[in-house]
Amino acid sequence: MSQPKPKESLHGEMCPICAKGHLQLVCANYEFNPQDEPAVDVPDVWVERCDQCGERFFPAETSRYLEEFIAEKAEQLTPDELERIRENLGVDQTQMSEILGLGEKTYHRWEKGTQFPSRSMCYYIRVLAQFPEASEWLRERGWRRSNRVAQVVSALTFEDQFPDLVKTRGGQRGRITTGTFVVNPARGLSRVAFALK
Ligand SMILES: [Zn+2]
Repeated sequence: MSQPKPKESLHGEMCPICAKGHLQLVCANYEFNPQDEPAVDVPDVWVERCDQCGERFFPAETSRYLEEFIAEKAEQLTPDELERIRENLGVDQTQMSEILGLGEKTYHRWEKGTQFPSRSMCYYIRVLAQFPEASEWLRERGWRRSNRVAQVVSALTFEDQFPDLVKTRGGQRGRITTGTFVVNPARGLSRVAFALK
């Protein structure tokens, strides 16, 4: 896989960072360093590099190419795939955040492509895509922190249904507290999916 030369670029334009150099369209290696994940080396991508300060810019075609390359290497979902899955589930970005137990901004960033979901989160989302009933099941039970009554009821139901799920002490974002225990809904999702099947 190598990137075709972009049709549109800012080659020859003044650098917006140093305002001294000019941007050159060059083919270079790019290293992507995601949080908590191994780095991904992307060989031979077209970038616009300032001939004075060295700042790099990415033509739109390169951004898309990088997204797809990184997604394939890291078994991640691209912003386009995320959007398609979410639309198939029939939910907006806010509802998707609730289903995934995330802060709303985090999910927005994934679809915008400014941040990438972890590999494990991508597996989770793929399961949701495969079993839309599971997302419905999660959404109906309202995993939101603000909906404490619904949470306790659903968490009890959840524990009744899946008593062997791993329980850990202490609260974390996206987890549900029942008494002194915290149940992570993601851990039980595959079992939920099977139960629905
Ligand atoms: Zn510059």
